Amino acid sequence: MLLDVSRACRDPGQSYPFKAEADIEPMTVLDDPVRFTNVRLSGQMTGAGEAVRLSATVEADVESRCALCLEPVKQHLTAEIDALFAREPDPDDPDQFPLEGYRIETNDVAREALLLELPMRFLCSDSCKGICPTCGTNRNIAPCTCQEGGERQNPFSALSKLLTEDEEV
Ligand SMILES: [Zn+2]
Ligand SMILES: [Zn+2]
Repeated sequence: MLLDVSRACRDPGQSYPFKAEADIEPMTVLDDPVRFTNVRLSGQMTGAGEAVRLSATVEADVESRCALCLEPVKQHLTAEIDALFAREPDPDDPDQFPLEGYRIETNDVAREALLLELPMRFLCSDSCKGICPTCGTNRNIAPCTCQEGGERQNPFSALSKLLTEDEEV
């Protein structure tokens, strides 16, 4: 949304508290759908000549899918914003955004901050059993019997055994 920063522009050096919301388009991150909802910012804006500095916390709910079982996952995310809104933002500085008139757009700055806080992968729970690679069953919902007998053939367990033996030498 557009946030009115005219107070800060009129009174450089003075900090004004603010609250704002933001709308972030659904996106795809590393092949996973990511959707931010209830995006809220709160913090301070400070005028600095022809620029406004924004120091804020942004909170949002983020919806994606579990990396193991592909079921929907919803998490709460918090990120810090320290951005400069300038008449002529430096395109090489990721913390600078455009100041147009006496308004700033909160959507971009909120999205950039939240993306930096995304977990490497989403998990529905720490104990997610995932999908069986053999039969495709979601093992959180129903057990399957594919594991039996196959586990010892796993090339990774053979490899980790080799590595362990190496270390002991
Ligand atoms: Zn899962
Ligand atoms: Zn199975």
